[in-house]
Amino acid sequence: MSLNLSDKALNEPAARLMARCDALAEISSDPTSLSRFYLTPEHRRVNDQVAEWMQAAGLKTWEDAAGNLWGRCVAADPAANRTLVLGSHLDTVPNAGRYDGMLGVLTALSAVEQLQAAGVRLPFHIDIVGFGDEEGSRFGTTLLGSRAVAGTWQDAWWELTDAEGVSLHSAFEQFGLDPAKIGNAARSSEALLGYLELHIEQGPVLEQRNEPMGVVTAIAGARRYQIELTGYAGHAGTVPMAMRQDALVGAAEWILAVERAAKEFDVVATVGQCQAQPGGVNVIPGAVQLSLDIRSGDDRRRDEALESIRGSMARIEQARHLSSQWREIHNAPAVACADWWQQLQCAVLSELNLQPLCLMSGAGHDAMAMAEIADCAMYFVRCKGGVSHHPDEAIQQADLIPAIATMTQTLIRLAQRFTD
Ligand SMILES: [Zn+2]
Repeated sequence: MSLNLSDKALNEPAARLMARCDALAEISSDPTSLSRFYLTPEHRRVNDQVAEWMQAAGLKTWEDAAGNLWGRCVAADPAANRTLVLGSHLDTVPNAGRYDGMLGVLTALSAVEQLQAAGVRLPFHIDIVGFGDEEGSRFGTTLLGSRAVAGTWQDAWWELTDAEGVSLHSAFEQFGLDPAKIGNAARSSEALLGYLELHIEQGPVLEQRNEPMGVVTAIAGARRYQIELTGYAGHAGTVPMAMRQDALVGAAEWILAVERAAKEFDVVATVGQCQAQPGGVNVIPGAVQLSLDIRSGDDRRRDEALESIRGSMARIEQARHLSSQWREIHNAPAVACADWWQQLQCAVLSELNLQPLCLMSGAGHDAMAMAEIADCAMYFVRCKGGVSHHPDEAIQQADLIPAIATMTQTLIRLAQRFTD
């Protein structure tokens, strides 16, 4: 089983893939930018368009009980009992780029088109999925589509509302779905060979290393806190420097300690919010509200960094007569990509004369939800400047040649594991 995966043979498929991304970017609720949310008329249109392309490639398509779109490439033996799931999401953030999510669904389709064109049949079914919600743009909770498939849907979500006050329950009905049947969207783990997702990197590493593709080792676990640092407000003119309890100066010192700890422990940590109270030009800041977001592919290392960051805060409090209160608002463990997948992926990249560069994903993905029911794997594709969630999100058409080749070759290698 070998296909012509040369640049020449894949020029036209790469151009078609690029054109499809452009076509989907036109399906938006906003005429001047790309905004496409869960269970909206645009969701319907994007599902219809992708289903049309899937059907043209000979796939049987259907929509599941959560509004996710599926297309099946049937195995050589139609009675085969194992299925590989490929895919990503078709929803976007407001004012989005055109590749985050869509590229994964459409590259999977391109790979299947390569197999179909060459008459290659695999010993397992391939189900390509376009998840209806990953970003959480409409209802504020992410991964609704993939969590329905993973069977981890929570009934409390039905009460979630969008900006117009429409509940998730009503939105289901308006889309033509029956909320009572949400359980039907869940896939059984026994039948699944694995889940493979290709996604733009959303970071600058591949570009910096001058590589078009990378293998994801893990999706970072994140912890988030809201922190109130309290001192004592006072007159900016009358309180001597040595007698102040300036919460903002303490916060400044602590933010630098966060940066040092992140570098020391090789994690990423960000203080994205910093609000001084009372906020007067002539008043010593008596309190500061801060946020902390800390992530790593390794939960233990992340928690060690966190301990160091909390230790710095304790020392600053003591030295400056301040006090802090911490509230944890998010805690999600890291999700490791399966070792066997990573080995196979690195072998495929080497075969295609690409560097098997391994990297962690700092952003969340559908693969996190799918890891509940399947061994997960991800490929990253280089994107310009690491920019995503922005109209400037960009990829090079030339990078889609290795992207399609890699996905196609991964399917062939996986099939060989079956027959060996
Ligand atoms: Zn995404």
